[in-house]
Amino acid sequence: MKNIKLTILLALFHLASYSQKPNFSVYNNQINLLKQEVKYFKIEKINNKFYMLLGGGGNVGVFISDEEVILIDNKYEILEDVLMASLREITDKPIKYIINTHFHHDHSDGNRAFGKQGIPIISHQNAKKRMMEDIELYGGIYSSIKDFIQPKYDRTSLPVFTYESKMSISQGNEEIELYNFGKAHTDGDSVVVFKNNNIIHTGDAFVRYGYPYVDLNNGGSIKGLIDFLGTLELLCDDNTIIIPGHGGLSKKEDVTKLKNALDDLYTKSVIGLKNGLSYSEISDSIEETLNENLTVKLNYIKTIELELSRD
Ligand SMILES: [Zn+2]
Repeated sequence: MKNIKLTILLALFHLASYSQKPNFSVYNNQINLLKQEVKYFKIEKINNKFYMLLGGGGNVGVFISDEEVILIDNKYEILEDVLMASLREITDKPIKYIINTHFHHDHSDGNRAFGKQGIPIISHQNAKKRMMEDIELYGGIYSSIKDFIQPKYDRTSLPVFTYESKMSISQGNEEIELYNFGKAHTDGDSVVVFKNNNIIHTGDAFVRYGYPYVDLNNGGSIKGLIDFLGTLELLCDDNTIIIPGHGGLSKKEDVTKLKNALDDLYTKSVIGLKNGLSYSEISDSIEETLNENLTVKLNYIKTIELELSRD
């Protein structure tokens, strides 16, 4: 009898937790703010075939081939008109494909607008999996991402082509390669290499704003991100132009600088935590080269501790 009561109680508990609606307020507030604030994107020309769109979300790469356009990332659904206005300043060719570098809203929420138009979307298989659920992002590094739940995408907004470790696309005279090198910013990152133009879009696995956000809730790993930056260096030569997930156009030396800074932070954190040092003591031992603020630096050390506890 006791067991039956317990079973019923457990069933009711599950029912209650499943019927509880996720709280999208942090997500909705951010979207509303963007709608009010973002009226245009900065267009940066890289060469006659390549442009970058900056502002209001992750950097969008625009590749213009003979007949069509390929977009890498697409910012927000709410900014579709702004994105199209920017694109039409560059070209009137139609969009053939959209590549998502990962599932985060500021890079892929445009799927909710462009997918409905029948434009095929491409991503890593894990990015698509994340898009099929309401997803809570890891909130332990930047306060703006605390309690942030990204709503799932409907069927028309999901990628139609996915891959596991590498995918190749031919477009005109260009060979486009997508790579996933395992856990880094998330577990579904794509690096997009345009071989003949020598241009790489990294998504958020490489950024220019300070310590890169790592989504520990969704397969991200600081150790993995450092390894990824080492691999990215090998994909680059001194002439490679890198479109980061956020920030200005970059070169191989910028990747090296970020990798070295994170490597130093990671190594000192691991040793410091092992020896029972406080977060502040560990932080004091790390030379700051990325102009990051102290709170984020301390959060990063705590995140490394969390990651180590899961290994
Ligand atoms: Zn991201």
